[in-house]
Amino acid sequence: MTLLDTPPTATSRPSLRHTRIADLYRQLLSELGEDPDREGLKGTPERVAAWWAEFLEHDPGRTDTVFEQELAGDADRLLVVRGITAWSLCEHHLLPMRLDFTLGYLPADQVLGLSKFARIVAAHTHRLQLQERIVDGVAADLTKATGTADVGVVAEGEHLCMSMRGVREPTARTINYSLTGCFSDQGVAGSRLLALATSGAGR
Ligand SMILES: [Zn+2]
Repeated sequence: MTLLDTPPTATSRPSLRHTRIADLYRQLLSELGEDPDREGLKGTPERVAAWWAEFLEHDPGRTDTVFEQELAGDADRLLVVRGITAWSLCEHHLLPMRLDFTLGYLPADQVLGLSKFARIVAAHTHRLQLQERIVDGVAADLTKATGTADVGVVAEGEHLCMSMRGVREPTARTINYSLTGCFSDQGVAGSRLLALATSGAGR
């Protein structure tokens, strides 16, 4: 994976041509042995084209709203958000992956608005992706938005390319994380975050 190997974003991609996309799906259905004009498939190419626009052109909104705040200077102020679920599409198979995120940081002088966590996640999941790249991207944006290097991101993924094709392991989950600053080096904060992310409580 190189820096050039990054998927376009909603702003860097040329606008989607709905009619052309629907037309290509009509051709694909024919190639798959279907009659795109049969009753059940009427309107399907247009619906799929609309879905691509909804998925790829999703606008997560502002992800950088912070609140200045005086914070007491002891270590027990980790902020952890979990239960953020997002769907993305695996770029190797064009099949969905469902990701459950646990995000944490040690607030410095500013606190990130809570809705921004979900928006940062959405900014990275609404394109053709890899779980590893999503986690790295979310961690980088969280670092930027919170102004601290103490950031941890854990994602637990269910990949349909593993559960409905290939090895067909419906219960397999892929967990990966990016832990920096106080979350790194197997410190207490990192261990706590990983334990929270994998405990399954609250799901
Ligand atoms: Zn895949």
